[in-house]
Amino acid sequence: MIKYKLMCKDCDLKFDSWFASSDEFEKLKKKGFLNCHQCNSKRIEKSLMTPQLMSKFEVKDTKEKNLKFREINKKIREYQKFIKNNFEYVGKNFAYEARSIHYGNKKKEKRIYGSATTKEIHELKEEGINAEIIPWVEEKKN
Ligand SMILES: [Zn+2]
Repeated sequence: MIKYKLMCKDCDLKFDSWFASSDEFEKLKKKGFLNCHQCNSKRIEKSLMTPQLMSKFEVKDTKEKNLKFREINKKIREYQKFIKNNFEYVGKNFAYEARSIHYGNKKKEKRIYGSATTKEIHELKEEGINAEIIPWVEEKKN
């Protein structure tokens, strides 16, 4: 069963109607079995919001979302590249290394990046250590 929104071309009445299939609508229309409840006109058309068109809108929407996702991904990758070139990777020792720098165990100031749990980040912030959380995209291994 397919539900169509129908429209009367003469009086602009809009109404929903059920059909066994998309072909049935055309058949009934050709035979003159479709008529307006209000003015009895046979000039009945499917309005624009047919199920077929709906799915086309959905496909377009998904494509746009994918495009946006790819753009964001690209930006994240550029950001990652910058960090990799300018920061030292400390892996899971991030919280330890950040404290070492903060408390002056290591004289030289350095920029580090690595992974930390949200709990660790929270603790670092409480200690006045500045840590930023950035989205990270895993590299594709080909
Ligand atoms: Zn009508």
